[in-house]
Parts: sequence; structure tokens; C-alpha cells
Amino acid sequence: MHQGVLFCLVGLPIHLLVVAAPTLNNSPYAWKRNNNIGKFWHISDLHLDPTYHVTEDRTKVCQSSKGYPASDPGAFGDFMCDSPYELIVSAFKFMKHFPQPDFMIWTGDSPPHVPAAELSTKQVIDVIANTTNTIRAFFPTLPVYPAVGNHDYWPQDQLPTTTNEIYQAVAKLWSHWLQPEALATLEAGGFYSQLIRPHLRLVSLNTILYYGPDKVTENMTDPAGQLQWLQNTLEASRQNLEKVYIIAHVPIGFLPYAMETTAMREVYNERLVEMFRNYSDLISGQFYGHTHRDSLMVLLDHQGKPVNSVFVTPAVTPIKNAREPYSNNPAVRLYPYDPADYGVLDVWQYYLNLTEANHEGSSAWKLEYSLTQAFQLADARPESLHALALALAQPASKAFQTYFRHFMVSYNDTITCEGACKTIQTCAVMFLDHDSYFACLKGGKAGVRGTD
Ligand SMILES: [Zn+2]
Repeated sequence: MHQGVLFCLVGLPIHLLVVAAPTLNNSPYAWKRNNNIGKFWHISDLHLDPTYHVTEDRTKVCQSSKGYPASDPGAFGDFMCDSPYELIVSAFKFMKHFPQPDFMIWTGDSPPHVPAAELSTKQVIDVIANTTNTIRAFFPTLPVYPAVGNHDYWPQDQLPTTTNEIYQAVAKLWSHWLQPEALATLEAGGFYSQLIRPHLRLVSLNTILYYGPDKVTENMTDPAGQLQWLQNTLEASRQNLEKVYIIAHVPIGFLPYAMETTAMREVYNERLVEMFRNYSDLISGQFYGHTHRDSLMVLLDHQGKPVNSVFVTPAVTPIKNAREPYSNNPAVRLYPYDPADYGVLDVWQYYLNLTEANHEGSSAWKLEYSLTQAFQLADARPESLHALALALAQPASKAFQTYFRHFMVSYNDTITCEGACKTIQTCAVMFLDHDSYFACLKGGKAGVRGTD
């Protein structure tokens, strides 16, 4: 059965695979006419489920559905399951048809959502090796910068503050992409930094050390010394006139779908947000995954001035929890950036309509939206995202409807988000620390809270 699926993929007509950047003709923005802009891919949350197979008994399609029946299983996956290998391959085949960008960031989570007893340290390493090797097979010359996710460990979430079999394994697996100095801290604590372009340093944080379910780090003030290391790294970057991209799995800020909940423990969120404010002049972008949904944040300084653009990319896996009313279509994205200061110029979000792909037996990945075109923005720099954030919070905001459709990666246009749902979303976009977020929830900031 798997053979047949692979054969279908190989036999895809070429015209389905030919893709282009969004149409940028007649654009009012000068950078779009400039061929010298840089670009990089962002992929996240692949969550490969090697047990996925289409079969009569829908409760047996994948272990990741945890006994619930698959909803509409096909060759490219199901909304109750993690990714079949075919889905991951279809994403990379699609990406391969673009001119090769400068690099790729990969914000973690390779193993499937299954109970701990179904996995082991060896199996987790095997899955990460599989995804790593698949990426290398498709993009042998592309520099790739990974971050560890909460599922990239066994048992899940329990990432340690000292070296262990898994940090050692990934340091080996990723040694083609990272330099010795980066590999040393990766092996010791699951984080690293590396100069990746002239005057651009990438900092890959292990934010699982700050994640609520990680029992290992409970009550620690600075797990693995990562906060001190980050401070030192940013200070050195300032001295060396470097710009910085921050990448990590678990994002800073508040969850866009849960009331009063930060993605990581609040005490660490406060410290990171403050440090990012202090170094916002060098941080040209922050890139995260983990939520599986598409969302934006704009970090404001204490005067309310927008200082950092923060991007949360949606997942490749389409899985949803049995209790969740919606999921996300599989997604990958490309960011164009300004090589002069590494400011992010746009988000080109690509996706696979999973239902269509399964019914047609072919994977027509396509552009879902360009951020600047969808919201008429000049670019994706902090000032532009701030203007968007203000527009999203307006009553009956059309922009918010579009934003929420993107949040689900166009999973279902009939699902709407109003009232408390909208307030939680829009407060999370602009208010990343405790005090400003709770003031927003209370409607304390005039014009910010959605009133519909
Ligand atoms: Zn995930």
C-alpha cells in the first residue's frame, strides 16, 4: 500500500509542482522589485508518525489518534493523525522547486504525539535522524538551523539541563550544519548560536527548559545557565555590531487560544521578554513553532513603541486533539528579508489543502497568503506589525477575520472567532508581558480590546 502511494507521488504531472513566489508585479514597495533580497524557509512540528497507514478500521490508521477514529484518512494524512512520511516528502518536493534560499530554520518536534510507553530514547533519536536525513537528501547544500522541541526527547517535555544521549545524538546528526562551538553548547544544553551571514547571528534557544511540563527545571532560576549565556551572547553581538535572529520551539508571550496562559512558565517569559527589550536594537526577528497555528506578535518597549517582530509558524502535521473544534492544514513558509539589516520583509505562507489532496490523490501545495498583500503592509517590520495589531483589535475587523482564517491555515472558513476568543487573540498579539496583557484583557488600553 505504501509502495502505491510513493509511486503516485513520483508520477505527479510536472505542472502541479511548478511554483512561484507570490505575484509581486505592480507592487508599490521598492524592495519587492529588488532581486537582491534574501530569503529563508521556516518549517516546524513535522511530527512524523511512522505507523500511519490507510486501513478499513479508522481507529487503527495511526497511533497518534490515540484510539480515536481518523476523520477522512488519505495518502497525505488525516486531521486526527500526525504526518505520514508521504506528507513530509510532499512538502519538501514542493519546496525543492523554488530557487534555493539562503538557509532554513527548523523549530523542532519530529516524533509523533503518542503515549510515552509507545516510544523510547532510541525511537525518538531514530525519528529525528529520519527527518534530518530526509531534509539533507532533499537539500544537500542548504544550511539548516534546528531548534529542539518538547517532543524531541523521551519522555516528552523532560529535557534535561545537562548533556544526555539525545543532545549528543542531535549534535552528531546536525554536525553538517553547525560549527564546533555551536555543537559544544548543543551537546551540553540543547542550545547554540552561530554566525550565519555577514553580521547576522542565529541564536537557537532550548525554551523547553522553561516549559511548564518540564519537571526537571521546576524552581530553577537559570536552567542550564542558558539565560546567562543568552545575555553574554547578545552583549557580544552588540559589541561586534551583529544583528540577531532568535529561533526556538516554545514561543514567548501568551497563547492566542487560551485565556491568561503563557506558552512557557510565566517567570521565564518575563525575563526573556525583558532581555529581548534590552537588546531589541540588534534582534531583527524572532521565529517560533510549537502551537501548530499561525500567529504574530509584536514586542513593545515600555513606552509602547514596537521594537521586535515575532513570528509563530504553523505545523506540517495536521493533527488535532479530539476535543479541539479545528486544526490546521499542513504548512511551510518563506521569509524574504533585507540583507542590509536583516529586517523581515514579508511572510509567504504555503499550505496543502489536506482534504483536497487526499481526494485528488495528489499534493497541490500552494500559496495561502503573503502577509503584506493580505493586510496591505509595507513589510513585516515591528512598525508594520504594530499597525496590523491595532487594526485586528478594532470591532468587526475584516483584517481579524482574515488573520483568524490564517491562524487555522484555512482549515475551515465557517469557524469564526468573536467575543472572548477574539480578545484573547488580539491581546496576545501586542502584549507579551504579564502587566500589559492583563491590562489588555480588562480593556485597560483604549481601543485595543475587541468589543464585539
Ligand atoms: Zn509540536
